[in-house]
Amino acid sequence: MSARILDGTEVAAVVKEEVSKAVADLAYQPGLATILVGDDPASHSYVRGKRRDAGQVGIRSIHHELPDSIDQIELTALIESLNADDDVDGILVQLPLPGDLNGESAVETIDPAKDVDGLHPFSLGKLMLGQPGLRPCTPSGVMRLLDHYDIGTAGSRAVIVGRSYLVGRPLAMLLLERGADSTVTVAHSRTVDLPAVTSEADILVAAAGSPGLIKAEHVRPGATVIDVGVNRTDDGLVGDVDFGAVVEVAGAITPAPGGVGPMTRAMLLANTLRAAEARRGVG
Ligand code: NAP
Repeated sequence: MSARILDGTEVAAVVKEEVSKAVADLAYQPGLATILVGDDPASHSYVRGKRRDAGQVGIRSIHHELPDSIDQIELTALIESLNADDDVDGILVQLPLPGDLNGESAVETIDPAKDVDGLHPFSLGKLMLGQPGLRPCTPSGVMRLLDHYDIGTAGSRAVIVGRSYLVGRPLAMLLLERGADSTVTVAHSRTVDLPAVTSEADILVAAAGSPGLIKAEHVRPGATVIDVGVNRTDDGLVGDVDFGAVVEVAGAITPAPGGVGPMTRAMLLANTLRAAEARRGVG
């Protein structure tokens, strides 16, 4: 039997509609600043999409495009000026940065109140402590997708393949939080016998950046499979899951593209709204 498809494009549209309504009710227009350094086509395309999304929900886009000849000091100065700008509610530095520029240091310069990517150590610390805060967009997008489709996490066994600070680790924390209550395993490239580990999962999340890594043998029949992977191959963009095989085993599955990607973008808008409300004492 074929798995239920978890349509990220559809759920992202629901999130965007919610954000759009909330923005329309505000007495001011939230502002999202994007910083793009260099000429990497993929980064340009991502930022273009984020700016377009912002415009669609009524968030003002403030865009800064810099040549890859700039140095860390100039980048820091720009971020500090955006920190001080009251019209800016969220700041996003598109990663990775080219050359010797240090992405972590750039993110650490962002005022945590404007950290709409949720990747500042302050935001990640809040997540670790189980305290409210801005959450990284991809993991919170995965949680929202599960919630939308009423896929219960409480008491479930969740396995995440990938331990990055961008996806795997924060998602593990979200699934562990009280209320989500999953029992979580995080696998990585040194995990021994990956199929044995992943086939224990009720909820299996692939975030490895390895095309087609997850095959039918990795999946317990009826499990929910979330494919975070985005891999550029000769056949175009593909996920980490061998969709054609796994769709026959899983109970529910995200397509890739069209699953987690749109959710990540939508959660950036939700975070920008939240940051704007928090900064201005609304909501
Ligand atoms: P990353 O920093 O490269 O981390 C990849 C993780 O996967 C690492 O922990 C690595 O293990 C593990 N891994 C790699 N190959 C593996 C294998 N064969 N078996 C088991 N574990 C393996 O990548 P990332 O930034 O987390 O991104 C992961 C993927 O998600 C990428 O394809 C990325 O493009 C995609 N992504 C998508 C979105 C979206 O919105 N859809 C957002 C962010 C990222 P080690 O730690 O041992 O090296």
